Amino acid sequence: MATIFSKIIKGEIPGDIVYRDDQITAFRDIDPQAPTHILIVPNKEIPTVNDVNPEDEATLGHMFSVAKRIAEKEGIAQTGYRLLVNCGRDANQEVLHLHMHLFGGRQLGPMIMRK
Ligand code: 5GP
Repeated sequence: MATIFSKIIKGEIPGDIVYRDDQITAFRDIDPQAPTHILIVPNKEIPTVNDVNPEDEATLGHMFSVAKRIAEKEGIAQTGYRLLVNCGRDANQEVLHLHMHLFGGRQLGPMIMRK
């Protein structure tokens, strides 16, 4: 079964796409947690970080350079931003299609909720 993100990548369901190439698609989160909240997603369905293989390394590295370019385009490169990848249950990963969150446009607070 294709993930919801694969359906957005293939254009089967709508998505506010901000960047696309043969390895990666980036689109705005449907429920933004910051003024800029973009999901950077490999076109290949990798469920979680635990499923990453050596052949994915170029794509995963490319995600960082795309993140940098999107941050510049969004006007938040200088003020700063956060890149976040959730993996599995304890991280509350909702969508089993590896993705990098790009948050910015406000002061983002502490890195993680303290106990
Ligand atoms: P996770 O918790 O898996 O790291 O994050 C999943 C993210 O995907 C959430 O921030 C959620 O709002 C977003 N999301 C879930 N379904 C959709 C959708 O159909 N479209 C878009 N654009 N974002 C989605």
